[in-house]
Amino acid sequence: MNLLVMGAQGSGKGTVSEALKKQFGVATISTGDMFRSAIKNQTELGKIVEPIINAGHLVDDQLTFAILKERLKEKDCKHGWILDGFPRTLNQAKELCECEHIDKVIYLDVDYQTILDRIVGRRVCPACGHIHNIKYSGDPFYCSVCNTKYIVRDDDKPDAIAKRLKIFKEQTLPAKEFFEEKGLVLNVDANKSLSYTLDQILEGLKVL
Ligand code: ADP
Ligand code: ZN
Repeated sequence: MNLLVMGAQGSGKGTVSEALKKQFGVATISTGDMFRSAIKNQTELGKIVEPIINAGHLVDDQLTFAILKERLKEKDCKHGWILDGFPRTLNQAKELCECEHIDKVIYLDVDYQTILDRIVGRRVCPACGHIHNIKYSGDPFYCSVCNTKYIVRDDDKPDAIAKRLKIFKEQTLPAKEFFEEKGLVLNVDANKSLSYTLDQILEGLKVL
């Protein structure tokens, strides 16, 4: 099964994709995570994308697509995949459709206020990648998994957030509309709990 998970920043794409991965046993691919890991390891790719991502811009379509295409060739993708954060532009959507079959596009719909609440409180563990929100219970400073001090992602800082949300509206919504015209989109209310979001998705995927 090949699924796309789309939604604005803070809509919960990463969390939902991980949960679906457990459910369906397919690979989950996050282009954002791939870029961040390249930056962390200071690879050639990492050096190119670091300034772009930290400024809240999108990485170039050609480059992103090339990286994704390589990733889709790996063994764990044989029985299907869930893409988190790809496509982000109409061009990426069209290119993906030309070479891959897509079963469903899950669109996580969230209100502006929910987005702000979630992103402003988001903390990431630089050591193990654990994500925490200071709105919820638990230590606001140290990772509950490995006890390292949390950081705020550069692109979660207020200026970058505003830019990313604008880009989402202008560049990513047209990609969603493209899939909507193909009748592939499952619209999900993602303002409430994760379990409520997942229930809607599983219900919507039953017909597949
Ligand atoms: P978020 O959903 O919170 O924006 P991601 O982890 O999905 O975070 O992506 C982080 C950053 O990586 C994006 O802001 C963008 O700069 C870059 N990126 C990720 N996926 C893509 C993509 N498909 N096309 C272009 N840039 C991307
Ligand atoms: Zn940790």
